[in-house]
Amino acid sequence: MNKKLPPRTVERLSKYRRLLDRYKESEEAHIHSHKLAAMLNLTPEQVRRDLMLIGLNGNHRKGYNIKALIGLIGNTIDRREGHNVAIVGIGNLGRAVLGFIKKSNTKMNVIAAFDIDKNKINTQIAGVPCYDLEKAQHLINEEKIRIAILTVPPEAAVYTANLLLRAGIRGILNFTSVHLDVPQDIYLKDYDIITSLEAIGFFLMD
Ligand code: NAD
Repeated sequence: MNKKLPPRTVERLSKYRRLLDRYKESEEAHIHSHKLAAMLNLTPEQVRRDLMLIGLNGNHRKGYNIKALIGLIGNTIDRREGHNVAIVGIGNLGRAVLGFIKKSNTKMNVIAAFDIDKNKINTQIAGVPCYDLEKAQHLINEEKIRIAILTVPPEAAVYTANLLLRAGIRGILNFTSVHLDVPQDIYLKDYDIITSLEAIGFFLMD
């Protein structure tokens, strides 16, 4: 694994692969950087720079071989055995996110959901068992879960995040819009639809 890749490059590599996945059964075996770039609103130089960072130097006049590129991106950004992931707070958003991940072709294995709602605990949601939050410490440790998706109500965000970190979680995808103060060695990513929408709205202001 190349931990020296810039985070933005890793995000773009993930996007390239998702796009290429749709092309891998097409008649074309190769794709040019300018085509990939145009579909993602990037420059061809940016695409080529990213691909050089994962070892694709030299002449690609025919374009990049699609299947080989998918494989190379996978070897670069995936952990071979995948990652065990937990989703914490399995309400409206939690279910939607879980359903989306289950349908996608990713090495992120959501193997547990945690909630405090007795009606959800001990049920299966999209094929994933939902456990009492009280079991999180034990299960996260036992199942070597290192990534958590946080979809609890805002008022529960800090408490649950701290609990998850104590249990051994090393990376959090935080949907709660609450600022989480985490140690430097924890990878935290916030995602907020409202922020994205408002940023779009600002640029469209008359
Ligand atoms: P919801 O009420 O449908 O679901 C919340 C779930 O969390 C419920 O199942 C509830 O039982 C559970 N829960 C409550 N306290 C808990 C705790 N301490 N530990 C574990 N589980 C707990 O809410 P929702 O609409 O799914 O929203 C969930 C969160 O996502 C909220 O923080 C909301 O603000 C946020 N949200 C973010 C975005 C975004 O773009 N980032 C979009 C929608 C919602």
